[in-house]
Amino acid sequence: MNRKVDVCIVGGGPGGALLANILAENNVSVLLIERTNDFAKAFRGEHLNEEGEQILKQHGLFERIEQLGLLRMETLEYWLDGEKIKTIEPAPAIGHLGIHVPQAHLLQAIIEQAKTYPTFDYFLNTTVKQLVQNEEGQYTAVRALQGNNEIYIEAQLIIGADGRYSTVRKLANLDVTIRNHGYDLLWARIPAPTDWTPSIKMTLVDTMQISLFTQAKGYVQIGWNIEKGSYASLRKQPFSPFVEKLTKAFPQLTHSVNEHIQSWRDFVLLDVFSSISEQWGKDGVVLIGDAVHTMTPTGAYGLNSSLMDAHILAQMLLQNERFDFMSCATERKKQISEIQAMQIEKEQKFQDAFVVLG
Ligand SMILES: Cc1cc2nc3c(=O)[nH]c(=O)nc-3n(C[C@H](O)[C@H](O)[C@H](O)COP(=O)(O)OP(=O)(O)OC[C@H]3O[C@@H](n4cnc5c(N)ncnc54)[C@H](O)[C@@H]3O)c2cc1C
Repeated sequence: MNRKVDVCIVGGGPGGALLANILAENNVSVLLIERTNDFAKAFRGEHLNEEGEQILKQHGLFERIEQLGLLRMETLEYWLDGEKIKTIEPAPAIGHLGIHVPQAHLLQAIIEQAKTYPTFDYFLNTTVKQLVQNEEGQYTAVRALQGNNEIYIEAQLIIGADGRYSTVRKLANLDVTIRNHGYDLLWARIPAPTDWTPSIKMTLVDTMQISLFTQAKGYVQIGWNIEKGSYASLRKQPFSPFVEKLTKAFPQLTHSVNEHIQSWRDFVLLDVFSSISEQWGKDGVVLIGDAVHTMTPTGAYGLNSSLMDAHILAQMLLQNERFDFMSCATERKKQISEIQAMQIEKEQKFQDAFVVLG
């Protein structure tokens, strides 16, 4: 199959989907290519900050996501040895400390809206394998596989919105600098106790951070920092003493943890690192979101940064007759570098908060 579009976007995560939606709304012909068979995902960055909230509102998406289900966080709490030691309340003008938005709801709302524009199209179950260059070295097409069928898509611009292990970034030989933050993360999701209020709760166990994020539809997501690369050896240890540290830290969770986290298999490992590329694009290829700057989970910037990239890039593409990508990327790169520096500072200072408060 052959197709020709203005913009081919590889990766239907929040960044790629939002960019496709905004461009299609403005009559740009867009093809969004996603390798999985739907837009529903679990265990992804799902906490929206005010910046992400404003972008979704500006593009008329927030109301629909709210209908599908989201949850505003009412408190940020610090806990030590099973006791709450500090509570932070939201600024009245903002009214929350982050919003939990299931990524499936976010993507459903974006794709639903995009489908109303005639210049939008998408392929699921389709994996981009190759970039094609013309004689001048300009990238002019992608080759993708849909099952056994090869698809050839010609485009004036190719966007790599294909996440932290970006294929487009590798195929275009764009550099990436990876930073190790000294920890990985174990995720688990369990039903919330009935009297659980929408909150983010933090504690320290053996000097490592555990965070609890209340989720829409009655769940708690647990994020447990472990030493970088330690999971293989941790899994050889008995499970019960490990998980008992969690119930000791948050006794209200005992029943739900005992019911739902019964072995190492009930955790999902996230390889934590951050990365940033020096070059955000070249010769007809542009990267956005995790593909060009993977964030650590600290402060939940991953999702929000991808939405912001899509928003900014769309404005640049729509406003400039001759798209000056490099000057746009320079400004955005500065903002991302500042956020990444802030993440490192927060990670380094996390324990101090408990020493002072304890
Ligand atoms: C397990 C996990 C947990 C996370 N937890 C957090 C968190 O707690 N807080 C936070 O802020 N962030 C978190 N993140 C990061 C957050 O999910 C991302 O920052 C955010 O989703 C980035 O959006 P994106 O659109 O740039 O990329 P992604 O959401 O990664 O989307 C990329 C899409 O590209 C598709 N794709 C990849 N390769 C190809 C290909 N060759 N062809 C076609 N499609 C392709 C993928 O299937 C995917 O749908 C987590 C990420 C992971 C993987």
